[in-house]
Amino acid sequence: MAPRVLILYTGGTFGMEPGLSLPELSVASLRARLQARVPELAQLADCTIDIVLNCDSAHVGPDEWLLLARRIRQNWKQYDGVVILHGTDTLAYSASALGFLLRPCLKPVVMTGAQRPLSALRTDARRNLISAVDIAANGPRALVGQVSIFFNDVLLQGNRARKRSASEFAAFESPQAAPLAVVGTSIRYAQKPYVANSRAAAARARAPALKPVFNRKVGMLQVTPGFPAEEVARGLLPGLDGLVLIVFASVTAPTHDPRFLALLRDARRRELPVVIVTESAAHAGATDSSANPESYPAGRQLIEEGCLWAGPMTKECAYVKTQILLGQGPGRAAFARRWKRDYAGEA
Ligand code: GLU
Repeated sequence: MAPRVLILYTGGTFGMEPGLSLPELSVASLRARLQARVPELAQLADCTIDIVLNCDSAHVGPDEWLLLARRIRQNWKQYDGVVILHGTDTLAYSASALGFLLRPCLKPVVMTGAQRPLSALRTDARRNLISAVDIAANGPRALVGQVSIFFNDVLLQGNRARKRSASEFAAFESPQAAPLAVVGTSIRYAQKPYVANSRAAAARARAPALKPVFNRKVGMLQVTPGFPAEEVARGLLPGLDGLVLIVFASVTAPTHDPRFLALLRDARRRELPVVIVTESAAHAGATDSSANPESYPAGRQLIEEGCLWAGPMTKECAYVKTQILLGQGPGRAAFARRWKRDYAGEA
């Protein structure tokens, strides 16, 4: 029997018209488009199509993540794998969120999309979808039984990936994790299975279940020389439950500024967790674990002031993890305990 794959459509460039307008697709119209333009899908799997959303991914957030997770859970038993068609702008956030919502995820959930519409000449939509379905249908379960992102012949761990280009077909990279698979004349899967009987996987499995609740009062700000710490403390902090700071590349921040330190102390007084993350400068595919807040005094001080380091996480994953951990209940100490756990291979 052919493997069964559920294709969930959410919108994005994949289904747009050549002028980048977004038509309201129905199951029937999407099926007709796929039959016309990607007829070879039938050779790979028995595909069922469903429409979850019809939007630009700029309009996807916590409500839509919950909707997607519910739809997948309702259908979990009937399919060997799921492919989600999604716009690229917020795909990395959605992949991180689904990683938390679907854990332990033992079936493949491959997220993909396109930089040019399916209807366009030189589109990447066809090749992305064909390989994503092939991987969801036939990939080794121990490796691909997780939420992943497939673009431009590379399969990445979803909660380690980020968008790198709005114009190149290589839309995603995962600076802190090697690809799970690379597609060439054949699909070359990585050797080290993600769901191995390793200590990390066992610890992950023991992590408590997460309630599907995202706290929306999380701000994410990039620190800069001359950062307006006073204004953030006065204007923003009182309305927030959590703060993610994107700090400088070597995990440092303007801690020489008493106003910046006052901001961190104010957050502590308010029981508000502060997470620090960097935009890694590593090349895609490289594993760079050298960035560390312990390296410089301007980083150590962040830890002394109670900031929580996001380690290898992307800013997208750190942000979503902050949202969902705050959704588990209040308290900075409880947050800090949860923060150190690896729930979905993100830590
Ligand atoms: N705004 C679009 C979206 O994220 C970006 C293009 C795309 O779909 O890749 O939906």
